[in-house]
Amino acid sequence: MSGIPEYYTKRSNDNLFSLMAHSIIKNIYMLGAGASNASAGAPIGSELVWNYYEDCGTFYRMDERGGPADDDLREKEKEFVNYEKFLFIVDKYFPELNERERWKNVLSKAETYIPPTKTYGFKKYFVDEFLRILKTSGDQDSISLVKRLILEHITKSSRGTNNNLYNKFIKNLPENSFLMTTNFDTHLTDKKVGTDLYFDCLLDFDVVNKDAGEYYYKKSGQPILKLNGSLDWGICTKCNKLTLFQPHVSTQDYDSVLCNMTSNCQSKLEPYVVLPHQIYDQRIKKLWMRAEKELQEATHVTIIGYSFPEYDVEVVNLFTNNTNPRANILVVDFYDEGVYPKVSKMEYKNYIEKRMKNIFNRHDALTICVDGFSEYMKQYEKLATV
Ligand SMILES: [Zn+2]
Repeated sequence: MSGIPEYYTKRSNDNLFSLMAHSIIKNIYMLGAGASNASAGAPIGSELVWNYYEDCGTFYRMDERGGPADDDLREKEKEFVNYEKFLFIVDKYFPELNERERWKNVLSKAETYIPPTKTYGFKKYFVDEFLRILKTSGDQDSISLVKRLILEHITKSSRGTNNNLYNKFIKNLPENSFLMTTNFDTHLTDKKVGTDLYFDCLLDFDVVNKDAGEYYYKKSGQPILKLNGSLDWGICTKCNKLTLFQPHVSTQDYDSVLCNMTSNCQSKLEPYVVLPHQIYDQRIKKLWMRAEKELQEATHVTIIGYSFPEYDVEVVNLFTNNTNPRANILVVDFYDEGVYPKVSKMEYKNYIEKRMKNIFNRHDALTICVDGFSEYMKQYEKLATV
């Protein structure tokens, strides 16, 4: 693949050239939902929560009449009880959809349920937009339910995936690298225990779960800024204290652990995730200020699977206002012929370049790769082992 600048330095400190290179290079990697999708099958923004049943529902078990077996239906209803509640809430706000009944109907016939985001592609049905509506209505219970579904969908959809791309990416990460991500999922930090790399979230947790120590090391780990929070950061719904779990946190962890960070609190924890329209609290603002500083000093900025959607105003502004104007910029995107049948690969690439020039306020050429994360990784690995 051409067009990728050969700037990746070997993770080694035994040759002078690499030492010199390290003193002048500062790599920033920004990873979006597209990267987690390619590595671990995590849902992309438009499919989050909505596609939970489609992604995680198992095959129907049929009875002797050729229809779905009653006990199987009951199991599915139980497993997806929160999803049903979600559709119920959706119907309250968008009565024209009637999704709960449609889903139940599909279930009873053992058919495939296609959520409305796929059918219509309307932005107003995306979960982040829906959350904004809930917030405006002060519907706190529904917001908690949606956050719970984000956790269920992300953790369940990645079961059984090998997370290969992230594992290779982390293994070959050049020195002087700084990671940033808007993803809530924990695939990037969920490395295999036993490797020498630890992560540092650069955040002050009130309590660090003992298992989290296998992955996170508070003093000198690989820095990672999770700008919108993370599923393994549990915040108390009452006393607002924050705890760090191990990355492969599950719904059961949240069900079984009650807050004991304040004496006699015993309240529920929920994932500390900030959605695009929410106001960032002081705790996470610290991460944003650090991100500004890192971007100002960056010599190389690599964007993988993140498209700077318009609703992510804060992130767009962060990169527009702070990125070092002389930094080399590489954007790794994916041209999916199935999604854009009328657009050629070259047209798509030009479109991405134009958008990115706008976002980064640049007139000179940027390096754009539209072959996706996995093609990029082939090149990345090759350079890392030169
Ligand atoms: Zn508490």
